[in-house]
Amino acid sequence: MKEYDFYIVPTPIGNLGDITLRALDVLKSVDLIACEDSRVTQKLLNHFDIKTKCVSYHKYNEKERLSQIISVLQSGKKMALVSDAGTPLICDPGSIVVKELRQRGFSITSLPGACAVTTFLSQISREDETFSFVGFLPKTQKQLEDIILRHKYNDMVFYESPNRIIQTLKIVKNLRNNAVIAIGRELTKMFEEILVDKVENVINYLENNISKGEFVGMIFKDKAQADIYDIEDKIKVLQNKGFSAKDIAVILSELYGVNKNKIYKVTVGK
Ligand code: SAM
Repeated sequence: MKEYDFYIVPTPIGNLGDITLRALDVLKSVDLIACEDSRVTQKLLNHFDIKTKCVSYHKYNEKERLSQIISVLQSGKKMALVSDAGTPLICDPGSIVVKELRQRGFSITSLPGACAVTTFLSQISREDETFSFVGFLPKTQKQLEDIILRHKYNDMVFYESPNRIIQTLKIVKNLRNNAVIAIGRELTKMFEEILVDKVENVINYLENNISKGEFVGMIFKDKAQADIYDIEDKIKVLQNKGFSAKDIAVILSELYGVNKNKIYKVTVGK
């Protein structure tokens, strides 16, 4: 097996059985593991009887730790990076060290493994492959409204804290009353739960049941509007070529299967 200087290693997001054989191999064989919270990682290492030493690497000391990591690697030793749960660099620290190590020519690889986004999306039926992952949602109402509206026409996947999930969904409901939401709670754990329903029903459910635990969510795109949004560019192209609103409506309705009158109205700006 090819050897690297620095390994990015996913760890389970709830179920210890989700560690991979290769992750165990790497964590055993490297000289040092950079981890977010050494108490969390130590539990994992103890469980699998791994004796490798850890050094903390979290968002508050990412920059300071760099020189230490670089000198460890320069001395010919190998390192791994883990976060508390899931895949490093996905809403977790690691970007700074990866950028610096790559610039300095160290060899880096990442192992596939547990990640809340992919675990969630791989059990949610969607119309197509496109989605936007926005990480943790912003905290202020204005920022939240902006991001929801900006992603109205594509499936928007997000992480949210249990303290804010209901409030966030209420803001979604105010902006898009008919929005459909998917929620993944406590994935891979004993009380894993998936909900796919209109935003109002999801709010009611969460209000009447425990809304604790860890959440991944998705707001499905506004399909009816997405049809029109997608063809707005095409309308402009045809207008620039001198086609009449009536002809544009006929052509695009034929090509995209969208109601002719709807296209006509968008074309004439009604
Ligand atoms: N790096 C991680 C990953 O690969 O998914 C994400 C780390 S981020 C700091 C933690 C957030 O991920 C949680 O607040 C929650 O939104 C989401 N998350 C992590 N584990 C989860 C789980 N088991 N079920 C649902 N969401 C989870």
